[in-house]
Amino acid sequence: MIDLTREPHVVTWEVTRACQLHCKHCRARAIRHRNPEELTAQEFGPVLLDIRNNFAYPPVMVFTGGDPLERDDLDDILLQSVNLGLSTAVAPSVTPKLTPDVIEHWKSLGVTSVSLSIDGPVPEVHDKFRGTKGVLERTLNIAQAITENDMRLQVNTSVGTDTISHLTAMLELVTTLKVTSWELFFIIPTGRARVDQCLDAQATEQALEWLADVADASPFRITAVGAPQYNRVLATRHPLLHAGRLAVKEARGFAFIDHTGLVYPSGYLPLAAGNVRLEPFTSIYRNSQLFRDLRNPELLEGHCSQCDFSLACGGSRARAFAVTGDLFAEDPACAVG
Ligand code: SF4
Repeated sequence: MIDLTREPHVVTWEVTRACQLHCKHCRARAIRHRNPEELTAQEFGPVLLDIRNNFAYPPVMVFTGGDPLERDDLDDILLQSVNLGLSTAVAPSVTPKLTPDVIEHWKSLGVTSVSLSIDGPVPEVHDKFRGTKGVLERTLNIAQAITENDMRLQVNTSVGTDTISHLTAMLELVTTLKVTSWELFFIIPTGRARVDQCLDAQATEQALEWLADVADASPFRITAVGAPQYNRVLATRHPLLHAGRLAVKEARGFAFIDHTGLVYPSGYLPLAAGNVRLEPFTSIYRNSQLFRDLRNPELLEGHCSQCDFSLACGGSRARAFAVTGDLFAEDPACAVG
């Protein structure tokens, strides 16, 4: 089993913050034009080499944005990752730039997985949420191109007050799309997302119980982001199966690198632990005080400090920080307590 304190399972890298969409909840507060301070394609190489050489189980590298297709040197970045043997995924925005030909091209480069956002099963929900008409239809065409090219398709769905009533229909939709995994993002009020878009503790608990119900019979992997208490729900139902399993979350199995090289525990937690321009990523992940603190259950406060699942779950530190300003406060979206 991977030691998540020493090895991330997934590293998400924001290659640019530029994007032509204007999503309601955008974590990145995406901008129209590329920032001149962005890392150059050449700067990706040494970081990727560090990751490949110094982690025993190199993580999945997810290249995201903004919109990665806003960079005309994206191929260089992807090839450096692929050529080092890293599992390489892309999380693009669905704009007219993303076509079935682009998917086929990524496949030819060696990209193995693409993730797409679908927040609602019908245009009235998804297009409204993404702020762009016709984006659901385009997304479904691209989803088909991904599976036709034998690549892994992950669908990401934002779970919040705008989308929660459509989850059952979303499940039906993702089932027809031949996804490899369905990742549900419980909205955290950071970036453009507002508190009134987020579920309260009771609604979060109901959603997680429903997820656990459907996950048992699902042919694809279902995961929850921003809701590590899903680990509590699963461990309560199946204690033997989930004994000792830690939720992958901020600084524990996961890290985020922004377009200027800053390293964060999560894209939803705006506290940087270092910069890959100055220090190896592996060192920041293992040794930075912020990452170490986030892995220390003894620093937790409130219900999270007294909970039997303080290690296995520990609450969303991003949500605690966004809502209370206290990194170690209890997770306000947890029904325990
Ligand atoms: S109280 Fe905190 S540690 Fe316990 S399940 Fe809830 S969020 Fe997780």
